[in-house]
Amino acid sequence: MKVTLLAHTPEPEKIVAAAARLCYSPDGADVLLDNLTKEKTAKFLHKLVEMGHLSPIEHVTFTFAVEGVSRALSHQMVRHRIGSYSQKSQRYVSEDAFEYIIPPSIAENKEAKKIFTEQMEKIRQAYQELRQIVHQEDARYVLPNACETKFVFTMNARSLYNFFKLRCCNRAQWEIRALAEAVYKEVKKVAPTLFASAGPACVSEGACPEGEMTCGQIAEVREKYRKL
Ligand SMILES: Cc1cc2nc3c(=O)[nH]c(=O)nc-3n(C[C@H](O)[C@H](O)[C@H](O)COP(=O)(O)OP(=O)(O)OC[C@H]3O[C@@H](n4cnc5c(N)ncnc54)[C@H](O)[C@@H]3O)c2cc1C
Repeated sequence: MKVTLLAHTPEPEKIVAAAARLCYSPDGADVLLDNLTKEKTAKFLHKLVEMGHLSPIEHVTFTFAVEGVSRALSHQMVRHRIGSYSQKSQRYVSEDAFEYIIPPSIAENKEAKKIFTEQMEKIRQAYQELRQIVHQEDARYVLPNACETKFVFTMNARSLYNFFKLRCCNRAQWEIRALAEAVYKEVKKVAPTLFASAGPACVSEGACPEGEMTCGQIAEVREKYRKL
């Protein structure tokens, strides 16, 4: 999996703080931006997140390129509706030589890996044969969930909070969890104060919402995110 931060709103923490201050000040945003020291910005951001006044954090966005992931992952990803996506098309791009993602549980099991890779080869052959006799857009129906894909996505900081809450959680599947963790690390580098309270629910909300399905490793997860 390759995750690259392509772009983000310049000075995201300052923009959020200025937008939030505007709500409570007679000054215009330009004056507010000029007067914002690093300390004032941090103080404002902490207050916002604490209060749950989260609309100002929607003003900043982060755009990522993601490669080397499965169609199973991209399907889970696009369920996050408060985001924008552009994905490699199987209608227009041939999958004759498609790569595939092997889940670790299969890669580590000799018997499972043999079944899996043999099946992938059969599918590849079937796809190539179908493409000779029907349109590519219909041949693709034979392709597997494991098929490698790439996409670019953009989310604002509020949507990223929600994404991390759900997908950094141990209950999320390994592949989207790996993506969420990689994205988390990148945005944390750019905006450490803005994302200071982000993470799985047991970090961002202080309690595990999973009930009986809890991973039971809340202390370990909190420690991990404290260090990240
Ligand atoms: C562990 C796990 C297991 C899952 N299992 C399944 C499953 O078995 N089947 C399945 O279908 N999905 C499953 N999902 C997907 C899940 O139901 C969500 O679709 C996905 O996580 C996106 O979350 P979201 O809706 O909060 O995000 P977004 O779509 O980005 O929405 C963000 C927030 O905006 C608000 N919002 C967005 N749209 C609306 C709306 N139309 N009405 C009201 N409020 C809205 C909500 O507050 C929402 O939390 C699973 C997710 C996880 C993390």
